[in-house]
Amino acid sequence: MTTSVTLTGTGVPHPSPGRAGAGVLVRCGDIALQFDAGRGTVLRLAEAGCAPHQLDAAFLTHVHSDHVADLADVALTRWVQQTLHPAGPLTIVAPEGESATFARRMLDPYDHDIAVRMAHVQPSPPEVDVRAFPVPVTPEAVWRSADGAVVVEAVAVHHEPVAEAVAYRVTTPDGVVVVSGDTRVCAEVEDLARGADLLVHEACRTTVMAELIAGTPFERIFDYHADTVALGGLAERAGVPHVVLTHLIPPPASSDDERAFADDVRAGGYTGAIAVGADLDTFTVGA
Ligand SMILES: [Zn+2]
Ligand SMILES: [Zn+2]
Repeated sequence: MTTSVTLTGTGVPHPSPGRAGAGVLVRCGDIALQFDAGRGTVLRLAEAGCAPHQLDAAFLTHVHSDHVADLADVALTRWVQQTLHPAGPLTIVAPEGESATFARRMLDPYDHDIAVRMAHVQPSPPEVDVRAFPVPVTPEAVWRSADGAVVVEAVAVHHEPVAEAVAYRVTTPDGVVVVSGDTRVCAEVEDLARGADLLVHEACRTTVMAELIAGTPFERIFDYHADTVALGGLAERAGVPHVVLTHLIPPPASSDDERAFADDVRAGGYTGAIAVGADLDTFTVGA
């Protein structure tokens, strides 16, 4: 068997052609897990051959709009699709606090649409099964497949001032995948990535652009994202063989721009394989 990892979005809040909002799809056999759901996620899922009704669970790393803008669409599309594909409530696994609250409230503005559709076609309202977990300072399991073969753990990361932000580690029979969410380069992700086969990490060219952004609002934005050079050191220390960069800041506009992200990570001391992510890039773990 193989486990596949598909980037459903490599973009950031500032829109960039071809880059949907943050999201990573991990599939192992029939199991499909979506991590974050930024703008365009439903389209990217369809392009990846995984419609919302096929998801076993969606996981939130934190509430910034670029990570959750399409979550309601995932839930509503799954609901509308139930006329053809009965799937039950969408399970949403989220840190307690802002993320879980967002997931519980996100369908409220659609009350009228839901009522109209129910009067017309749908026999029952859309349902989300929000499973909130206290943000753990050391990794804790937050989801397991029915047979226990796939386990997802979470750990707190550093995206302050966002109060609750986590990274996830997915263990399947094929190997281990870590998804950083948004965070500064931190020891928690380094520990989480130790022994992993694939690290999907957000990337921000802080070191290289420090002079350029000094005194601008971007200085504060870059401060809570992962410096590509420091990330190279983290990945090397963690001994992870393959790093996939996503949530690219600034969005690359050319192949030279993309190569620069990889060069930063290399300059930070990383000797493994580097992929600068594009939407729908798919990586496999296992045989
Ligand atoms: Zn973000
Ligand atoms: Zn964020």
